[in-house]
Amino acid sequence: MKAVSILGATGSIGASALDVIARHPQRFRVSALAAHRKVDELVALCVRFRPDLAVIADSAFEHALRDKIRSAGLSTRVASGDEGLREAAVTGDTIVAAIVGAAGLDSTLAAARAGKRVLLANKEAVVMAGALLLAALQRDGGELIPIDSEHNAIFQCLPGRRTGLADAGVRRVLLTASGGPFRGYARAQLATITPEQACAHPNWVMGRKISVDSATLMNKGLEVIEAHWLFGAAPEQIDVVVHRESIVHSLVEYVDGSVLAQLGNPDMRTALAHALAWPERIEAGVPALDLMKIAQLNFEAPDRQTFRCLDLAYQALAAGGTAPTILNAANEIAVGAFLERTLPFLAISELIESTLAAIPSVPADSIETLIHADLTAREAAQRIIRRAFC
Ligand code: NAD
Ligand code: MG
Repeated sequence: MKAVSILGATGSIGASALDVIARHPQRFRVSALAAHRKVDELVALCVRFRPDLAVIADSAFEHALRDKIRSAGLSTRVASGDEGLREAAVTGDTIVAAIVGAAGLDSTLAAARAGKRVLLANKEAVVMAGALLLAALQRDGGELIPIDSEHNAIFQCLPGRRTGLADAGVRRVLLTASGGPFRGYARAQLATITPEQACAHPNWVMGRKISVDSATLMNKGLEVIEAHWLFGAAPEQIDVVVHRESIVHSLVEYVDGSVLAQLGNPDMRTALAHALAWPERIEAGVPALDLMKIAQLNFEAPDRQTFRCLDLAYQALAAGGTAPTILNAANEIAVGAFLERTLPFLAISELIESTLAAIPSVPADSIETLIHADLTAREAAQRIIRRAFC
């Protein structure tokens, strides 16, 4: 019986992970559940899954959580804040890192340092601190299995034992991108986009932040950086191909001309079931892929002029050091401001570009350096918004 902790339990990935876990009560039990502020949703999950520990990240809600857990007659321990998240991250054997944004970095690192199996959905953590996260996993005997569908697909298409891509005979990896809700739009059509339009993804149901990232193509940009760290791929070995059906989740091209792909319906439970049971395979509740019904799979090049975030991410990866951390922080501020309707859609990439230009990248040699870069970039991005848009 594997004990699984879910950080970000009330989110879209959290729900998919719990759905898979609930299908296999003989195999998995839930050891900890953590959420940001949604106390009632967290308590309802505790009633259903009976974890040892429940964590609310915002400490202002700890009392309410404690009262409700007690009223529900549960013996679940309650904790809060960063300390609580760290405790959840070291409880159990497998940690689903599904907090959105930089807020997930500390607990993801804690899980890696505790030698856990880390099921990584929180791509922002690896974008910000890829080198440190990988070093911690290696040093402390942890194991990372990607949940991001593209990286999970690549993981599935690579041979089991490998020390690097060259060693495995890999020429390049191809990340597929749906193109988001505005695929095919000209720049002028994007000027008046609303948060509701940006969050209406054609193929995937996801949290609001990643939905906006998908609409700007920053999601693919973050995934390029994620692929660099997870698979040791050089930037020129990572390509992006737009595939509107979201059936081919990514591909690996080998030097002999073979290209391996992983296909499936766009449902995150496949990646979660794969990672939870790996190296075994278990039922995920996902309907079988009906190729006759799909009939056609389309592929095209991304429109890098209209959707500039993709190139900004490649540039940050090439610059190295704290540049990806700055990119991620500026993006989080930009997406937050867009969702609050204080920043137009087209200004998201402009804000990120200006922030990257305003803050020099330095070597990313310690967590303190990264946290400083993250904070400085957030402040700079907020200053730019105040100057230009308020
Ligand atoms: P979501 O918004 O649906 O859920 C986010 C979760 O994080 C919630 O449980 C929330 O309580 C928690 N959270 C938010 N802020 C927090 C904070 N400050 N401290 C602690 N917890 C906090 O997001 P999601 O779509 O589930 O995405 C989660 C992560 O997985 C993101 O990094 C996203 O990029 C990645 N991801 C998601 C999908 C998807 O299909 N949803 C696919 C690939 C990768
Ligand atoms: Mg993805």
